[in-house]
Amino acid sequence: MLTIPYRETSRRAYAAVQSAASGGIARAAPSASLAAAHADDAPAVRLFTETLREAARRNASDLHVEPLEHGWRIRLRIDGVLHEAARPPAHLRDPFITRVKVLARMDIAERRIPLDGRLRLAPSGPAQPAEDYRVNSLPTLFGEKLVLRRLEALPANLSLAALGLDEAQQEIVAEAIRAPHGLALVTGPTGSGKTLSLYCFLQRLNNDSRNLCSVEDPAEIQLAGINQVNVREKAGLTFALALRALLRQDPDVVMIGEIRDEETASVAVKAAQTGHLVLSTLHTNDAPAAAARLIDIGVEPYNLAGALRLVTAQRLVRKLCTQCRALAGESAATLRAAGLDAGHPIYAARGCEACHGIGYRGRIGIHEVMPISDALRDLIVAKQGARVIARQAREEGVATLREAALGRVRDGTTSLAEALAATDSP
Ligand SMILES: [Zn+2]
Repeated sequence: MLTIPYRETSRRAYAAVQSAASGGIARAAPSASLAAAHADDAPAVRLFTETLREAARRNASDLHVEPLEHGWRIRLRIDGVLHEAARPPAHLRDPFITRVKVLARMDIAERRIPLDGRLRLAPSGPAQPAEDYRVNSLPTLFGEKLVLRRLEALPANLSLAALGLDEAQQEIVAEAIRAPHGLALVTGPTGSGKTLSLYCFLQRLNNDSRNLCSVEDPAEIQLAGINQVNVREKAGLTFALALRALLRQDPDVVMIGEIRDEETASVAVKAAQTGHLVLSTLHTNDAPAAAARLIDIGVEPYNLAGALRLVTAQRLVRKLCTQCRALAGESAATLRAAGLDAGHPIYAARGCEACHGIGYRGRIGIHEVMPISDALRDLIVAKQGARVIARQAREEGVATLREAALGRVRDGTTSLAEALAATDSP
């Protein structure tokens, strides 16, 4: 299906987009063929506007434009799960993709290599904010696939409670990040909300008397008052290099988007030992695995034990739609096997108009919060593995992610199925 005379199509569509951008009136006197092209593209433009409006209304995080062997489809990622939003007529695909690429300032003639772009959609009403999207293209077997990621503004006054931390956990986190120096790590897989947690920590620390910096790949949200640096591996600006440069700029608090190599890890640990508060994320399943991972990639156990103050792990669980959630009919045996009281009512997803038939609306974080005690410090120095560290943490009352998730089942926030799926360690 790559045999469509693309340049011709794209040029026509480009003209139509330009025309639409100038209020629907072509600047030059339109030729007959341009007028015809415009008529062809108007439905694609309308589909584009409606799709992005739908994505915003349903609070989708990503929008996938996928060519298929026959036709194409648009899917929205809502609360971490993809849902098909439309399967529009085949002839609208190319004008649709061209419209996105033009607005994202991507080369419309280049469809053989992956491209990146960014687009901003003007507010749809007086009270509406502008919508920003990061756009990526990928040449697939059946044509170009686009993914549009919605770049959301940080929710105003984002609190530790809004992240889903319970009161005791909030106190532990607040105390750890109040410290003038040390390392605090948020762990979890991709898409578990780690970055939002770090942003929330930064926001709490943000004031005129502190120099806050971040190194990210890339910065997801722009934060007022924080010096954010984007890593550019291609240009040679790696995490470690950016971090070293930033440490020469007299920082108080440093956020590192992710620790994934020995050099970054060592610089982070050293910075945390020399008067800086360092916040970062790490890809591990749970909090006890973090120390072992850092030692594995080459950090000195003694230095790590000295620097580390707090490790948290997190997942996101979907919240049951409160309009339609229904009492769950799980058997007493199932409940007991999951560690729940057989007599306690729990809820399951159903689906209604308010939640577009999904049964869930929005997500909340569940957290394992492990402050580094003296006993844990000793275990780290002794190079003990994750299992030994976990045993000590449990003795000190650190709840597992599964336990935190079950707490959200008990209070009716989520379903048992969702809680088990979210905490099913790979
Ligand atoms: Zn519902």
